Amino acid sequence: MKLSKLACEIAESPTFALNEEARLLRERGEAVINLGIGEPKNKTPIAAILASAAKLTSGEVKYTPPDGLPSMKKAVIRYTEENYDRLVAPENVSITNGAKQSLFNIFYSILNPQDEVIVIAPYWVSYPEMIKMCMGIPVIVTPEDGTFTPRFEDIERAVTSSTRAIIVNSPNNPSGAVYPPELIEKIVGLCEKKGIVLICDDIYHKLTFDRNVAVPAYRFSKKDIENSPIVVVNGVAKLYGMTGFRIGWVIAPRDLTRVMSNVLGQTTSCVSPIAQSAAEGALTGMQSVVEALRLQLQNNRDVVLQEMRTFNGARLIEPQGTFYALPDIRAFSNNSVEVSKFLLKKAMVVVVPGREFGMEGHIRISFAGSVKDVTEGIARIKWVLDPTSPNEIYIGDKKMIRDWM
Ligand code: PMP
Repeated sequence: MKLSKLACEIAESPTFALNEEARLLRERGEAVINLGIGEPKNKTPIAAILASAAKLTSGEVKYTPPDGLPSMKKAVIRYTEENYDRLVAPENVSITNGAKQSLFNIFYSILNPQDEVIVIAPYWVSYPEMIKMCMGIPVIVTPEDGTFTPRFEDIERAVTSSTRAIIVNSPNNPSGAVYPPELIEKIVGLCEKKGIVLICDDIYHKLTFDRNVAVPAYRFSKKDIENSPIVVVNGVAKLYGMTGFRIGWVIAPRDLTRVMSNVLGQTTSCVSPIAQSAAEGALTGMQSVVEALRLQLQNNRDVVLQEMRTFNGARLIEPQGTFYALPDIRAFSNNSVEVSKFLLKKAMVVVVPGREFGMEGHIRISFAGSVKDVTEGIARIKWVLDPTSPNEIYIGDKKMIRDWM
């Protein structure tokens, strides 16, 4: 069949592809450890289960307005007031099928062909692909100093007359970096001065460790929401571990929200009211579930740091948030795809190659799983790559001997 050139140029989502590979291997009885996928292991918060069950048993499961159920929007408005100190109207809120659809709808609604969007590396894999789907051009800014925090001057230098938006994801997937408030302040200033949309992907905003805080961009803007270039994306996938419910939302000026509602209305009509009710339950229920998850992740992060200390050759910049670590493995190889394949083949451990995130020479390790998986997974990676680690290891009940170096 003749296919669209544009669609064929879109890459497969590597995390989903790897997840499927891990599932198939596990089905074959292999002792796979999946440090690839980014989803917390917690059960759905009870408030979300009860709210969605109530919706289901009401038997009233119909289309909702394209921009969302009024009660769900109300929950988002309250969340925005409490967490961002911003009072927004229902006309500023749209509820979407996951934060992924939020981002797609934003790009689709603001980009004309050949418009540029500045993306900071390392970046979440889907940004460049989504921008391309919307006929835009991703312009990648990479920190030159080997850190995961860009220099403001490099962002400023990447701005051209075609720049339509800058996307900021802090805490950052895949590096766990939390950008300093001064940097966010400067980016807000730049966007306001140049009329560039600042897309804040805040999907991990409460999952920060130690004294690190992800300061909302709104804090640095005096403009009211209708005149602000700031557009905020958030959702329940990461904070509440509700990845399968597919609920995200956007806070934006009314004119953008209206266009995005039309896009949503003409594509997926609306978001399932069962899922919207679940998210409403999560947002209005006990918030201690988020703190419990954060504490568990901080503990896992500490385990990662401890295990990495004895990993000779790998260099890790401490993750300050999220549930990802992005060690530099260039001492072993510059080819992260080959390394990831080798790790799966030799040690049955799934990681994501840094190349997918614009950071070749690194691998992304998700520490969202159990402490056991994280500890054993890193031990296996060390066994494969680090010649100073013991050369025997148990994988499942098989004793393995390193015989390739
Ligand atoms: N943004 C980032 C940075 C993410 O890591 C993810 C999920 N991996 C998303 C957006 C999408 O979230 P959702 O599952 O709500 O679509």
